[in-house]
Amino acid sequence: MTTEFVKITDPSVPEAKGILEKAADIVRSGGLVVFPTETVYGLGGCGTDESAAKKIYAAKGRPADNPLILHIAEPSEAEDYCYTSPLYYELAKAFMPGPLTVIMPKKDSVPSSVTAGLDTVALRCPEHPVANALIRAVGSPIAAPSANLSGKPSPTRADYVFEDMNGRVDMIIDGGESEIGLESTIVMIKGDKLILLRPGAITCDALSLVAKNIEIAPAVLEMLSEDEKPLSPGMKYKHYAPDSPLVLLDGEEKDVVNYLQSEIRLKKCAILCYDDEAGMLEGACLLPVGKKDDLTAQAHSLFTLLRDADKTGCDVIYAHLPPKTGLGLALYNRMIRAAAHTIKKV
Ligand code: AMP
Ligand code: MG
Repeated sequence: MTTEFVKITDPSVPEAKGILEKAADIVRSGGLVVFPTETVYGLGGCGTDESAAKKIYAAKGRPADNPLILHIAEPSEAEDYCYTSPLYYELAKAFMPGPLTVIMPKKDSVPSSVTAGLDTVALRCPEHPVANALIRAVGSPIAAPSANLSGKPSPTRADYVFEDMNGRVDMIIDGGESEIGLESTIVMIKGDKLILLRPGAITCDALSLVAKNIEIAPAVLEMLSEDEKPLSPGMKYKHYAPDSPLVLLDGEEKDVVNYLQSEIRLKKCAILCYDDEAGMLEGACLLPVGKKDDLTAQAHSLFTLLRDADKTGCDVIYAHLPPKTGLGLALYNRMIRAAAHTIKKV
């Protein structure tokens, strides 16, 4: 298949509107379009079309038991696809449009291939103007997982999408670098309780302003055993993985630096280091993540740096183990999975 590659900087100009109409036509007729969102790029198909969902799984090489997120233009559109509750509208008021996905019991209007046979559906209303304009142009929800090959880091730039998806989709819309850089926070509504299935830019602290009762699903922090079934099927897969092994270092900053200095003499190391450590780690391929306390910058650059680390041809990639607080929890969750839970105490 030939993939058309287009750029949109401002979705309101006439030229962009023409591109969005063309993209919407592709989606309505069962094709696939990659589009930018504020979290990461999405691989979109018609959310009410059984066969479009199947095409998405094939394009990503994604196991068909890992459901897709339905993207809507307005929070109230959820009524057509799931059984909402007052808590949903409280979350919508606080965080939508934005990087929050909410899981609720599905209605029959959602094909079972979208939800991988589950009786719940995941809904998100993205804030990115191109994503929002595309959903409006299609006139129905867009089913979209992240636009990477299954197991690879989610793409935060169109050139990464191109690496993974050229020849597999009808169109790629380049809308610049993703602002957040990590996928949406996912919560499941259970009565008046929220279960956090995937941490993201909407943190537990922020959610707790709306919901008193929040439970963190075990798969967010730990590796599940073979026979355990996660609430979110995606949590069981090794994910975001670079090709070289990633090792997370748990310890005081000075001990981490000492350990790295000795490793650099023995191996070809790529290191995701804090900006101010760069001068102490000569001889390694350095990928600065930002300042130690700037978790927003670290989230923004993580997937880019994991992809770049692979291109260095290193034997091993090292990074600091992130804290489990605030936005750190989202970084922690992505990095322990990218590292297949390889944590070294130093
Ligand atoms: P992605 O869009 O690639 O970040 O993947 C979507 C994530 O949402 C995956 O981890 C899925 O397992 C999760 N997901 C989607 N629908 C549901 C659902 N109904 N129940 C639980 N998790 C879901
Ligand atoms: Mg994904």
